[in-house]
Amino acid sequence: MNLLKKLATTPSVPGREDRIREVIKREIKSLVDEVRVDAMGNLIGVRRPRPARKTTKKALKVMMAAHMDQIGFLVSHVGDDGTLRVNPVGGFDTRNLFARNVKVCTGTGDLPGVMNPGGKPIHIASPEDRKKVPEVNEFFIDLGMSPAAVKRKVKIGDMVVLDAPFQILGDAVVSQCLDNRVGCWAQIRALQKLKKHDCEIHAVWTVQEEVGLRGAQPAAYSCEPDIGLSCDTTLCCETPGVPTEMRVTEFGKGVCLKIMDSSTIADIKLVETLEKIAKRKRIPTQRGVLPRGGQDGAMIQRSRGGVRTAVFACPVKYIHTVTEMSHKVDLESYPKLLTAYLEQV
Ligand SMILES: [Zn+2]
Repeated sequence: MNLLKKLATTPSVPGREDRIREVIKREIKSLVDEVRVDAMGNLIGVRRPRPARKTTKKALKVMMAAHMDQIGFLVSHVGDDGTLRVNPVGGFDTRNLFARNVKVCTGTGDLPGVMNPGGKPIHIASPEDRKKVPEVNEFFIDLGMSPAAVKRKVKIGDMVVLDAPFQILGDAVVSQCLDNRVGCWAQIRALQKLKKHDCEIHAVWTVQEEVGLRGAQPAAYSCEPDIGLSCDTTLCCETPGVPTEMRVTEFGKGVCLKIMDSSTIADIKLVETLEKIAKRKRIPTQRGVLPRGGQDGAMIQRSRGGVRTAVFACPVKYIHTVTEMSHKVDLESYPKLLTAYLEQV
């Protein structure tokens, strides 16, 4: 859990993945044979085959990819009153943005701030005002500093993330950006647990997924894999107000092997192979279909001449809020299944 906490509390929005990349790089250095960072910022670790016994079969190249960006903002305007305006990088539901603590990451350090929409507080708002859900561009950030100090410290383009604690609640973990630090974590854990394997592993931590799967495309091109494993999270809507048929995944029933979402239809034979391994090793898994939403697997699957691709996804409740929640069973099963697959392919 310490590793997941470290990953979840390191800010990284699309185009600003430097910090998390350093954290992951340190973790994997001793686990892979080669590490490189491509021009877009994707972190790629290559681990050559470590066969248990001599083999003449050609090693398959397996690419696993987890995006290391989280939804956040880039500063778009520093006002004369010292407030900041931001541009979202990633999909926000503005109903989750009221009265939030934020962190503004500047060149000279991180500044705590609060985010609220412009307009009147409830005491003086008209009934009409109260019904409106503001757009992202109506929100502003207050750093509690003088306009001059703000102007000195904050630049257009600085990264802003929502700020919330990492918590263990009962059988679950609650944090912001479990989407997708869980996938980042699962890949590191798999490399740690893995001993002998015949395949050549290309473990990739991608950039800019939240703004349209941008990093995975060049990464897949350069890795040229035979098999693609997208490592991400997915919705778990097992919550009041959502009918059972719309819950996507079940909480605590194991890592989800996605059958499809709006970006990818997984290779069903690969899914069946994964399920067989899971059954043999008694690792809980479940299938899931997400009607809308995509992940990096789409780019891997369609790279070069096409790549057989499966999608791992940890069920997450309250996704894209600062209280994303994952069940420990789902978390544990995730690297277990990844490791078991890599050991046998
Ligand atoms: Zn994601």
